[in-house]
Amino acid sequence: PAKPIFAGELPKGLQKISNIVAVSSCKGGVGKSTVAVNLAYTLAGMGARVGIFDADVYGPSLPTMVSPENRLLEMNPETRTILPTEYLGVKLVSFGFAGQGRAIMRGPMVSGVINQLLTTAEWGELDYLVVDMPPGTGDIQLTLCQVAPLTAAVIVTTPQKLAFIDVAKGVRMFSKLKVPCIAVVENMCYFDADGNRYYPFGEGSGSQVVQQFGIPHLFDLPIRPTLSASGDSGTPEVVADPQGEVAKTFQNLGVCV
Ligand code: ADP
Repeated sequence: PAKPIFAGELPKGLQKISNIVAVSSCKGGVGKSTVAVNLAYTLAGMGARVGIFDADVYGPSLPTMVSPENRLLEMNPETRTILPTEYLGVKLVSFGFAGQGRAIMRGPMVSGVINQLLTTAEWGELDYLVVDMPPGTGDIQLTLCQVAPLTAAVIVTTPQKLAFIDVAKGVRMFSKLKVPCIAVVENMCYFDADGNRYYPFGEGSGSQVVQQFGIPHLFDLPIRPTLSASGDSGTPEVVADPQGEVAKTFQNLGVCV
């Protein structure tokens, strides 16, 4: 992959990570965290050493989506590094595991918190660090890309026409940063009921994304009550139903990253 514009020396905590994959969306609520978490557990299921960094400081979802025994990050007092918590072998760092967080923060503060959490964590040797990016394409996202040398980006969107504008923004940001966008996940694409498949937001926008932006892979995820329920239950769908349809889609995505 092309070298990102990442500047300066690689922070010590990130030196033994082979791939840093950003999962990004331009709007909130499109399923970015759902994709990040299920992708991470799919990669772990394929035998990789995986970590998740939840960079969504304003709305951290990781504490809801996984259920580690230890729900607080620990600080090593000697090295002043953060010890990630862990669930089913995946290392986890989220602002939501940092204790009493502040609900109101200005942008530069958020960038500082993200920077500190990401770079002072003792990730150890990882094949993949999946980064659940904050939604949008602003300063915070840029800072993150400058701190961490991202190897690839996955963009999550919903099928509405309007979402195109967002995908374009995301693709432009990553292309400026020289991070390859390897896949688009079109979430909430369709649902199955009464033996029929329904496309509530229309069909065909996915292939348009591929043509227009030249992104090599496109994945569809259906609207599924189990996806939402598993997200709330603390066990990702791909763990709860490893042979299911959703798990298969994530395995295909996992092969691409
Ligand atoms: P984001 O990270 O983009 O804000 P989330 O992953 O937190 O979005 O998803 C928002 C809500 O929608 C969550 O409650 C999640 O469980 C639910 N959700 C996401 N994708 C699906 C889907 N394909 N089917 C059903 N519910 C979904």
